[in-house]
Amino acid sequence: MTTILMASHQDPVDLWRDALAMEMPELEFRAHPDGGNLAEIDYALVYWAPHGLIASLPNVKAVLSIAAGCDHILADPQLPPQLPIVRMVDDFLAAMMAEYAVYGVLHFHRDMHYYRREQLQSQWSRAWPLYTPDTLVGILGLGAIGGDCARKLGALGFQVHGWSRSPKSMEGVICHHGPDGLLEMARQCRYLVCVLPLTGETRGIINERLISAMPKGGFIINIARGGHQVDDDLLAGLDSGQLGGVFLDVFNQEPLPSEHPFWQHEKVWLTPHVAGELMPRSCAKSVAANIRRIEADEPVPDLFDKERGY
Ligand code: NAP
Repeated sequence: MTTILMASHQDPVDLWRDALAMEMPELEFRAHPDGGNLAEIDYALVYWAPHGLIASLPNVKAVLSIAAGCDHILADPQLPPQLPIVRMVDDFLAAMMAEYAVYGVLHFHRDMHYYRREQLQSQWSRAWPLYTPDTLVGILGLGAIGGDCARKLGALGFQVHGWSRSPKSMEGVICHHGPDGLLEMARQCRYLVCVLPLTGETRGIINERLISAMPKGGFIINIARGGHQVDDDLLAGLDSGQLGGVFLDVFNQEPLPSEHPFWQHEKVWLTPHVAGELMPRSCAKSVAANIRRIEADEPVPDLFDKERGY
């Protein structure tokens, strides 16, 4: 019998239990804190599990992330260093993230920020739209999620650029890579969408240097992690007019403290970390497939790479 222990303060345990039962009826499902005999646990399925929980599972074979990023697992100081960690790669999650990216770009591109302000003053006035085929969108991160964002924005007629760590080639996307590639891309793009993993190299990447490289009046959509943005640099960019607006789903501190200036800033549009939800019905397929691979001693493509940090 293979046994999985789920530990998450926000994911729906019943939906996960049902979805995993459909995909892998032979799997025994338990949910923290009712883990029973912890020596029987083979897999931990977690999102911000209590620190020390994973270390208390003596026979656990792998940790399965209920998130594309693994920062919530690495934050545990007692995490056994050699334990394999499996990222969540899921088509529906990527599609939801791409929807948000498209929505954020279109929000500004179709001047909804302007029309809302006008509406509140009962003003009937028109903004002049930009020609979409002349408008450049840059995607920071061209992985499972960034790739889908790029394809969907391209399908709407934008000129899409993308930035990754290693050189890439993607149909319809002008690809950049490495530290120089980022500024080269930013200089041309009216919109930047961040879908990077949070690593030592990407922390604080949305900073004064990047913002000042963009054409004046540009827009940033950050749906990756709050740690990517330097809040004071975003606020300075917004207040100086260098940035026309930002759409933020993630924050350095979550929940965003009630006194944070982002809440009331007229150029900030924000949501409480909801850009991509992990739907158990879809994600259970990837969990089951990865458990089967590990049990069969086959390579796991979604393995977190400790060297790269993602
Ligand atoms: P992924 O498939 O691992 O792709 C990561 C991409 O980022 C790759 O293209 C990678 O380059 C690039 N990258 C990494 N480090 C870089 C660096 N130093 N310089 C330039 N490019 C770099 O990840 P994913 O599944 O698309 O997920 C991306 C992130 O989205 C997650 O880590 C998570 O933080 C965030 N996310 C947020 C939400 C939400 O609700 N807000 C939901 C899901 C995911 P290479 O191609 O060269 O490897």
